[in-house]
Amino acid sequence: MSAAVKRQDTQSGLNTSEVDPQHREVYAYAGEAFQLIDQHKTPPYPSTFALWYAYVSKANESLVTSVDDMIKRGSVPSPYEINEMCKAHLSDRKAEEAQQEISRDFQHELAGVLDLIQESVDSSDKFQAALGKIEEGLPEAGAPDRVQLLLSRLMAENQRMVSQTQELNKGLRESQKQIEKLNDELEDVRNLSMRDALTGIANRRAFDARIDAELAQAEASGSALCLALADIDRFKRVNDTFGHRIGDEVLRIFASVIGENIKGQDHAARYGGEEFAIILPKTQISAAFHLIDKIRVEFFSKELVLRNSGKTLGKISASFGISMFEPGMTARDMIEHADKKLYEAKNCGRNQVRAEGVN
Ligand code: GH3
Ligand code: MG
Ligand code: MG
Repeated sequence: MSAAVKRQDTQSGLNTSEVDPQHREVYAYAGEAFQLIDQHKTPPYPSTFALWYAYVSKANESLVTSVDDMIKRGSVPSPYEINEMCKAHLSDRKAEEAQQEISRDFQHELAGVLDLIQESVDSSDKFQAALGKIEEGLPEAGAPDRVQLLLSRLMAENQRMVSQTQELNKGLRESQKQIEKLNDELEDVRNLSMRDALTGIANRRAFDARIDAELAQAEASGSALCLALADIDRFKRVNDTFGHRIGDEVLRIFASVIGENIKGQDHAARYGGEEFAIILPKTQISAAFHLIDKIRVEFFSKELVLRNSGKTLGKISASFGISMFEPGMTARDMIEHADKKLYEAKNCGRNQVRAEGVN
């Protein structure tokens, strides 16, 4: 710590006197973050600190909402959940930076193309002017040697224009290739920042954006909309018995069962550790119930066997809660209602679907 720092700050336990105001603010946030680690008994990992720091400094609105939800639920998040939240809300910074970098390259390439076009315009202006001059000379050309001279000038001018056009075309083709490559890279980064790395389906960030769009659509059109939250039952036990790698595999299988059962307009996302969210636009609650129950049955009927030992994992089930859109409802309301039904499903013995207005 800097020698200029002398006083011990009582709240954060960090020295903050004689520190410039901007750094003092950083120390204050850090102090609050440490207090929250302690208060919520979250594991003291760097990712936990990053999470609480971002929360107190309000660096990210969606993260604040997620953490508020977590506090409301009163549960102590596991290291996985913390990592997931960090991945969903914080590490996407890297993706944003990459996007910015590609955008900068893109701008640069575009400026190059504009220069080439300008060059082309300038040189065709010059060509026009040269032709104009030759044309002016034509009426008095008369003598064959004058005509010959004008013709050879015309040919020389034309030759110059042809080679310049070839050069310009080559430059434009190269720029076009570069722009296409940048476009692809940008698309890749966009996709990556919206996907969950483990299961390959949409992540929480993508879900947050999608649910808002679907709610606006349902509100405007008056069409139905349901939201299902799914949570694998006794998943901790799966990890504890077979290890996290097998747990990860189960998560992938669950995600693929969901993916195989939803249609084009529906959206599935990994909402948290072993929680998934499924947005079902233009779907009535009874249809949503049947679809989600089909997913439940299909997942539960999977015979999961360890590849190397042939040992069975036994039946693994999941519980589901479904909420139904009513005009004026926000994404938060939809999630809270679905979460309430999911809680009921867990309380009533797990491996079942609970839906608003159905059961
Ligand atoms: P419940 O039926 O009440 O849902 O019980 P549960 O054991 O599923 O619930 P709990 O919330 O206690 O445990 C969830 C576990 O999910 C804790 C965490 O270790 C595990 N988990 C979360 N994310 C991942 C992940 O990405 N991979 C693996 N392998 N495990 C994860
Ligand atoms: Mg859970
Ligand atoms: Mg669970």
